[in-house]
Formats: sequence, C-alpha cells, structure tokens
Amino acid sequence: MLEIRRVVKTFKNAAGEFTVLKGVDLQIASGEFVSIVGKSGSGKSTLLNMMTGIDRPTSGQVIVNGQDLYTALDESQRSRWRGKNLGIVFQFFQLLPMLSLLENVMLPMDYAGVYDFDERPRRAMKLLEMVGVAEQASKLPLAVSTGQQQLAAIARALACDPPLIVADEPTGNLDSRTADVVIQIFERLVAEGKTIIMVTHNPSLTARTTRNIIISDGEIVDETIARALPLLNHRQMLQVTKRIQRRTYQPGQTILQRDEHVDTFFIIEQGEVEIVLQGRNRQDVTVARLGPAEYFGEVELIRGGKALAVVRAAPEAPVQLLTLPREEFLTLLEASPLTREAIGRIVQSRIEQNRSIDRRGKTWWPFKEIQKPE
Ligand code: ADP
Ligand code: MG
Repeated sequence: MLEIRRVVKTFKNAAGEFTVLKGVDLQIASGEFVSIVGKSGSGKSTLLNMMTGIDRPTSGQVIVNGQDLYTALDESQRSRWRGKNLGIVFQFFQLLPMLSLLENVMLPMDYAGVYDFDERPRRAMKLLEMVGVAEQASKLPLAVSTGQQQLAAIARALACDPPLIVADEPTGNLDSRTADVVIQIFERLVAEGKTIIMVTHNPSLTARTTRNIIISDGEIVDETIARALPLLNHRQMLQVTKRIQRRTYQPGQTILQRDEHVDTFFIIEQGEVEIVLQGRNRQDVTVARLGPAEYFGEVELIRGGKALAVVRAAPEAPVQLLTLPREEFLTLLEASPLTREAIGRIVQSRIEQNRSIDRRGKTWWPFKEIQKPE
C-alpha cells in the first residue's frame, strides 16, 4: 500500500540547513493499522506530509498504492490524486467554519467529482451516522463539541472512500472517552479493509494498533529491536538499529555449537530457532523454540561462558537473525538499567531452572517461556 524509499527531507532557513528525515525506508501493507510514535520534533508530521503529498522530499521516493507521488505527478495532479485516494485527519480537525458538518463532508466529493450529484448528501449523511454525529449534521463546526468536530473530520476523510487513511495525532485534542470512540471507528475501518497510519502520543492507543513504528531523530527504529528490548529509550533503540548485523541460516543449520565461545547477542527477526540438548542415549532433544523478537546468547554473554546448548535454525524455514557484538551488548546494559534488570531476571530464572532440573537428575531446562518437551 505504501513504500517509502530512502526519503530525506532537509529544511533550509536563515540559520542554515536542517535535515529532519535522514533516509527513511518504510513499507506498509494493505490492511495494516500502524501507529507512529516519537518525541516531539523527531519528524513524525514531516514523515506523514511525505506520505500525503502535502510536502515533497528533498530526495527519495514515495509510492502509494502503486503511484509514485513525486517523480510521476505534478502539483495539481498530486492534489487531485490525493482527493480520491487518501483520507487525512489532523489534530485540529480543520473543518471549514462557514460550512455545516454535512457540507464539510460533501466537499471532498464535490472537489474530486466522485459520486452522482444527488448521491453526495446521502453519502455524507451516512458517513456522519457511521461516526455517530448525524444529529449535528446541519450545525456549524463551532456549534458542536471538539469531539464531534473530530468525528465529522473523520467522516470527511472517508468521503471519497479512500483505501488509505493518514491521521496526525487525531486524538491529541480529545478527552479519553472520545479518543476511544475514534479508535473504535478506526478499528472498524481496518476490519473492513482500510489501511490506517496514525501518529499518536498515547501508549494505550499504540497497544491497539497492529504495528508500531518508532521514529527517533529523523530515523526509524528497527521494529524487531523495539519489540525485543522495549525498555531501551528511543535513542538507544536507534543506536542498536545502526549497529546490528544480519545473518541468515538455512533450515536446520547450526547457529551455536555446544561449548562454543559466545561473543554475540542474537535476536530473531524471522523464523524460529530450536534449542537442542543431548539427552540420555546421546540423542538430540529439542527443549525449546524461540521466535521473532526473542533472543538468545544473553546468559553466556553475561556470565562470560560457553554455549549451554546447541542452537539451530528450525527445520521449516530459514532464520534471519540480528546480531550485536558482546562489547556493544554489555555497554547497552550499562546504559539502560531497566533493560539490564529485565534481562538479568531472565538469565537468573534460566539458570535456576537449569539447576533445579539438574538436581533431579534430568537434562537442564534454561528456557522457561517454551513448553517442556515430553
Ligand atoms: P513531530 O511531528 O515529530 O513533532 P515535525 O515533523 O513536525 O516533528 O518536525 C521535525 C523537525 O522539523 C522540528 O525540529 C521542526 O521544527 C522542523 N520543521 C518542521 N517543518 C518545518 C518547516 N516547514 N521548516 C523548517 N523546519 C521545519
Ligand atoms: Mg507533529
């Protein structure tokens, strides 16, 4: 649905040049409900403006629904394209104050010339009903509550039935009850097949989207790292993003040998790995499976030991790993006490389980998240 390739945006002013987006790559599939978060000034609105065609990138490409917005369209073509293909919702609604809510919702249809002339008021009314403000249809924006204005603005964004809706802090100016109504409407639209991209500051809303993107200082944090190490701050996540290296393993391929010296922290990006021990009769026993955003190697890195088990790619599919050298991993733990504590707890429980099972004379069991083998 959306592809952003190496987008750079630089603003020039009297003080000089200021690069707000530093080579952003992003792909969003049809039907996703995506939230974008980041500190104030990190470039969220600028990024949305690139997606909507409101502002143009200094370099790079933006392709929405197969249409290259900047190299293939001129300004007026872009604005016509936007009217039919994109619904935009702003923090401060931006309804026209001299038009009723109904007229505000009809406006994009008039502008784009879609739907029959007679059909437009009926469709506008239906949309106002859908968002729950039909009773206010003939009122001017300032005669209704801020929540109702935003609901009408959402109806307006839906006027031309666009496949993609882009919203910049749509609930930033609303009380939590109305914010919840807005998100419920978005959830319903996503269920009906729309794609929604929403900037928000509210963590209780990001939890309800299907994907969360973090932007820090004009760059996008790797999503696997954000999921695996959620207690890092955004800047630390970005540092890790820049330092990781990717490694691919074929199905069944060994990643770590038992007793091998471990000098890398591993995060799974794609696929699954098996943790394999030698059971009685020297047979391989798969004791655990780890999947995307889970990690391994941390026990060995923290204790400075050798690999406790064999780790190998699961037999079904290749595995893509993100790797971080030991030094960087330890530096990171020093910089983030919360992450150190969280990982420390995992290490502790993996070791304790190992011991308690050892004492009972069985194979040790360091991975508590996964079901025990038969
Ligand atoms: P966010 O939405 O994440 O708070 P913005 O994308 O609005 O951040 O802004 C990112 C940075 O770009 C800010 O430092 C802002 O001052 C600067 N900026 C945004 N728009 C312009 C502009 N038109 N001219 C100059 N600087 C701008
Ligand atoms: Mg903003």
